[in-house]
Amino acid sequence: MRLGEPHGGKLVSRLVEGPERERLAEEALELPKVVMDANTTMDFWQIATGGFSPLEGFMGRGDYERVLAEARLEDGLIWPLPVVLPVGEEAFSSVSEGDEVALAESSGRVLGLMEVEEKFSVDLRAEARAVYGYDDPAHPGVVKVLRRSDKLLAGPLRALKEPSLPFQELCRTPEELRAEFKARGWRTVAGFQTRNPPHRAHEHLQRIALELLDGLLIHPVLGEKKPGDFKNEAIIEAYRWLIENVYPKGRVVLSGLATWMRFAGPREALFHALVRKNYGCTHFIVGRLHASPSGWYGDYDAHDYIRQFDEEELGISILLLKGPFYCRACGCTATDSTCGHG
Ligand SMILES: [Zn+2]
Repeated sequence: MRLGEPHGGKLVSRLVEGPERERLAEEALELPKVVMDANTTMDFWQIATGGFSPLEGFMGRGDYERVLAEARLEDGLIWPLPVVLPVGEEAFSSVSEGDEVALAESSGRVLGLMEVEEKFSVDLRAEARAVYGYDDPAHPGVVKVLRRSDKLLAGPLRALKEPSLPFQELCRTPEELRAEFKARGWRTVAGFQTRNPPHRAHEHLQRIALELLDGLLIHPVLGEKKPGDFKNEAIIEAYRWLIENVYPKGRVVLSGLATWMRFAGPREALFHALVRKNYGCTHFIVGRLHASPSGWYGDYDAHDYIRQFDEEELGISILLLKGPFYCRACGCTATDSTCGHG
């Protein structure tokens, strides 16, 4: 696979426009309504706009089970995390396979339609163990899984409207970012995932990418994180300052990623890379404790996990970078890869 291609080879779009959208919006009024929570609504939008290519809808059992067991979709393509539509008991029992449902955000506003190909129940503890390596609710990612419904609806979706997102104007679609990189003449772009305002260590990693590549995409996650994490406003404002006042003009793009933190450590690091591949990145930075809540994963578990996969098959180069620190003897910021003072 060529670098920079969407995962699976084709950028998915499930957006319906024009007269067809009007027609489906009318039709949706008559359909049973499934209300998605904020996280699932963001997943809906990523599927619709190709951020989760090659997914065209919420996962059925075949994909779900192989993702848990092998971090691959049913057809063999690498994909490390489940993307599912959990529903309450009532919606689950009232909907049959083959039905069409309207998908709504929490306000009740209908955003799209889904053809229910499958409905099935899952074992949430088994899912947590497969994805996180733990089923202890003290883990901030595991608790999100265990609190979720175990009843799932699956099938291809069609999107009619954009959900209400935080920093809406900053949440640019894969198509928009790809066009932006092309307009700037960038052939190589590193994606930088974050849920924090910039600090010296992250700045060091970003500078490494800027030394090597044409451009850098700073792509903070704007969905649900965990209690005590930074607010989006602080993250965005600090990055705007850094880009305006420190980095050279025209070398860094800031956009927001409408998704939620799973805190799944190694598997989520790989997921973050594949999603940024869909947004047009050719490279992706994975540092120390990527997507890892403290105390649950080793510093470089995500590096070891990603090394198991063939880079050619991933279709994106992963920059596995060590955690930077300031070394007095070196007189500069360094890492274990560049400083021997220990
Ligand atoms: Zn040193």
